[in-house]
Amino acid sequence: MPQVQGKVALVTGAASGIGAACARTLAREGARVLLTDLDDARGEALAAAIREAGGEAAYLHQDVTEEDRWAEVVAAAEQRFGRLDVLVSNAGIGIMTSIVDMTLADWRRQMAINVDGVFLSVKHSIPAMRRAGGGSIVLISSVAGLRGSAGLAGYSASKGAVRLFAKSVALECARENIRCNSVHPGIIETPIWEKIPVGAAGSGRNAPLDPRAIALASVPTGVLGQPQDIADGVLFLASDQSRYVNGSELVIDGAQTAG
Ligand code: NAD
Repeated sequence: MPQVQGKVALVTGAASGIGAACARTLAREGARVLLTDLDDARGEALAAAIREAGGEAAYLHQDVTEEDRWAEVVAAAEQRFGRLDVLVSNAGIGIMTSIVDMTLADWRRQMAINVDGVFLSVKHSIPAMRRAGGGSIVLISSVAGLRGSAGLAGYSASKGAVRLFAKSVALECARENIRCNSVHPGIIETPIWEKIPVGAAGSGRNAPLDPRAIALASVPTGVLGQPQDIADGVLFLASDQSRYVNGSELVIDGAQTAG
């Protein structure tokens, strides 16, 4: 099992889905985890559950688009746990609509969370990782960051930006023992599918997206991925076992994009 014992990890969007699985898994393997999210009830409950299971965890409210809050969150990680070794920049949203019906406000909101939030997470974590002597940054992109997606053009653009940003971070920080990799989940069974808001009228969708139907239609096995499938990949990237994995893309999609 990859080793993260004693490392300090910060996970954004940790109250739900993939982020929650990452926080649980890192804590189970001995990392001290700071969870952040907008959903305080679920975030606090998860941090408490991790502590009850014998792990070390704390929760803080955070909107990843707010720069001032980033400075406070990173400072809190260092004050509470002494250092910062791992960043899992996971918070994200999806907005489904055709390009012509996408409002500029929705485009900007999606970019603000999925791209600006990731940029700020990295900008504010690097100095703390320098103080710790190195670190591992894991950016959650998507298979939509590897190719275009009709109806999710803005989401795809945002996740493509995350993919190339990860490589630039890897290059810029290579000499400082700070690695950065992107993770590209396929169809993962999380609440995001019920939450994907429709943009302006005209997307032709009036019911929640059904991930099972999408998986059956687009994943060779027809099987949905689970948050744990992504958390296991993130655990590897967070650990020292991946010390030579840098600037890479870890695609976890049941061969959805293999063809
Ligand atoms: P989710 O909706 O279950 O969880 C996302 C979390 O992010 C929520 O707890 C939400 O409160 C939080 N969040 C949203 N906006 C925020 C903000 N401004 N500041 C802080 N927190 C915020 O979704 P998920 O499926 O677990 O997705 C996690 C990541 O994985 C996202 O970046 C998503 O794009 C990506 N992803 C998911 C899938 C999938 O099929 N589920 C596939 C590819 C990529």
